[in-house]
Amino acid sequence: MINRTVFGLATGLFAAALAGCAASHHGGEAPVSAGVMTQEAQRALTPDAVLADLKAGNERFVANRGIDRNWVGQARATASGQYPKAIVLGCLDSRVPPEVVFDQGIGDMFVGRVAGNFENQDMVGSMEFGTAVAGSKLIVVLGHTSCGAVMGAIDRAQLGNLTAMLANIEPAVASTSGERASSNKDFVRRVTEENVRRTVRDIQSRSEVISGLVSEGKLRVVGAVYELESGRVRWLDN
Ligand SMILES: [Zn+2]
Repeated sequence: MINRTVFGLATGLFAAALAGCAASHHGGEAPVSAGVMTQEAQRALTPDAVLADLKAGNERFVANRGIDRNWVGQARATASGQYPKAIVLGCLDSRVPPEVVFDQGIGDMFVGRVAGNFENQDMVGSMEFGTAVAGSKLIVVLGHTSCGAVMGAIDRAQLGNLTAMLANIEPAVASTSGERASSNKDFVRRVTEENVRRTVRDIQSRSEVISGLVSEGKLRVVGAVYELESGRVRWLDN
């Protein structure tokens, strides 16, 4: 068994994470579905290939032709280790479940969610684990249309801890020109995109681990906006 305590240690990061999956994916009493991420599959992927995979997954979702998965089979097949291809940082919004809109299965992606899909130290630290330790090749910052957090930041909504949380989105509001009101749909759209682009930049600027992997070509960090009305993911600059 792997020693999970290594998660928090500075030493042995690279060796530790991938030690978990010696067990056969085909062991056990019940047949399990193929198609879960393995170490070999992960190693064979490039960042561009993962991006293409997620684009194809969203196309399947939009067409309502998602892969028919044996969910419990995938749970069993991934129980002894994980080799996710990507990390998605998405919004808390109940209408934007990343695994669903990218048509991905168990063990395929790490997902971090917070209202307004901004980064902070905890999220970037999690991403450093997901990439440098666990081998993911792509980070997607996924905003969405009609985001209540973005609109709340624009309108300077105040409520308990929400006030401080929305301050994370304020730089995107401040750097976007136009009439600052959540009723201004064009302004909301541009702030949403700016918030995604800023987050893409900030993840890399505050993490030498992540920017180092990017400069080595082992990782890409990209932004996208999910459209509630169509189910389509619109990629920014990709
Ligand atoms: Zn949202």
